[in-house]
Amino acid sequence: MKSAEELKKELFLDRKNGLLSCEDEKWAKITDYCEGYKKFLDDGKTEREAAKAAIAIAEKAGFLPFEEGKNYKAGDKYYVNNRGKSVAFVVVGKSTVDNGINISAAHIDSPRLDLKPNPLYEDAELSLFKTHYYGGIKKYQWTATPLSLHGVFAKKDGTVVDVNIGEEQGDPCFVVTDLLPHLAQEQSKRTLADGIRGEELNILIGSKPFKDDKASELVKLNIMAILNEKYGVTEEDFLSAELECVPAFKSCDLGFDRSMIGAYGHDDRVCAYPALTAICEIQTPEKTAMVILADKEEIGSDGNTGLNSAFLKYVVRDIAEIQGKDYTVALRNSKCLSADVNAALDPTFKDVSEPKNACKLNYGAVITKYTGARGKSGTSDASAEYVAQIRGMLDKAGITWQTGELGRVDLGGGGTVAMYIANLGVDVVDLGVPVLSMHAPFETVSKFDVYETYRTMLEFLK
Ligand code: MN
Ligand code: MN
Repeated sequence: MKSAEELKKELFLDRKNGLLSCEDEKWAKITDYCEGYKKFLDDGKTEREAAKAAIAIAEKAGFLPFEEGKNYKAGDKYYVNNRGKSVAFVVVGKSTVDNGINISAAHIDSPRLDLKPNPLYEDAELSLFKTHYYGGIKKYQWTATPLSLHGVFAKKDGTVVDVNIGEEQGDPCFVVTDLLPHLAQEQSKRTLADGIRGEELNILIGSKPFKDDKASELVKLNIMAILNEKYGVTEEDFLSAELECVPAFKSCDLGFDRSMIGAYGHDDRVCAYPALTAICEIQTPEKTAMVILADKEEIGSDGNTGLNSAFLKYVVRDIAEIQGKDYTVALRNSKCLSADVNAALDPTFKDVSEPKNACKLNYGAVITKYTGARGKSGTSDASAEYVAQIRGMLDKAGITWQTGELGRVDLGGGGTVAMYIANLGVDVVDLGVPVLSMHAPFETVSKFDVYETYRTMLEFLK
């Protein structure tokens, strides 16, 4: 007869904080790995910069740009650069792609403030930019915090001018001003969602007038003169620019114990980096391995650089054609980890989570069977069979993992790229890193969870 204690051990699900059994040697590897991640965060704060940083890392590992018509063989490594904003990395496997591809997909765009097409103006002898926020943000969080400006001016003659200002020591930065508490009595009566409105997210960029006391808009003129000198642009060039304001601070260790990382844009570079570094370590896998870093996830994955486009399908078709195989068969037999973050249990806001199903910091990579809203609307609900395969793989490799859901039922919800890939016939489940303060200018993750997610990607793709 077994004791209740023994029976409990045998029959109950028991999850433990992964750091309890983390040896010093492993912790050293984790912190070392996360230094690389922090550099990746600081090097690529926008989808364009993250794509560039990812390609640089992959090229060091032997990846070359895809060449149409080249006869790729097992062990070959290439990447397909989709307009500099989305990239697919491929390592050709021993078996042909009709046997399936192991795909890991993460996104490299993050919530931010985009400049409007006609952004520059002067008001009260100050110069400002009008913005249109990108992705789901709590607008009040983006005021009174230093911002940098990233992106491109694309000119009529075909030249593209890169912009990156506010990141280097000594660079100027920018800010959305907010009211002082003394004069915020009326503003304070607004709801939190309405505390700062979309049209109030105006970025202060200058105050010095051009020295001429006759013309009007002298501060705007002075700014335009500076931009013209620095980037060779006129006001009209803003019409074909993509300029993005993001927090100007760098990533950093968080906590006295340095167990966490605070940064802008963990969602979803915290999954992109593990997927990328994993595929860079792979030599010649049994099945073809693919990592896709996508753009536009934060606004619904639409557009030609998002995963609701044909990009992934065409990358699969290209390699299938080279091997003389049908790409629809390849897709049907493929498996995918949609690598995205989930909302970690926040000790201050526990009420939004259901404790048995919320993910927690330091409990490892989180499998999210479904996201969506209300009655599971807008999600790909992974099949039991596929989740079983993944949990079998994780346990066999000794990876610490947990499950999660996006908050209590009917409280809100969200989505990932999982459903767009599932719609192609691929088996997909979400797996990624728990995050605190998701979509805030400064998000928090645990180093242990980042590392376990990297180990998962390596195990899945190898
Ligand atoms: Mn995400
Ligand atoms: Mn997101």
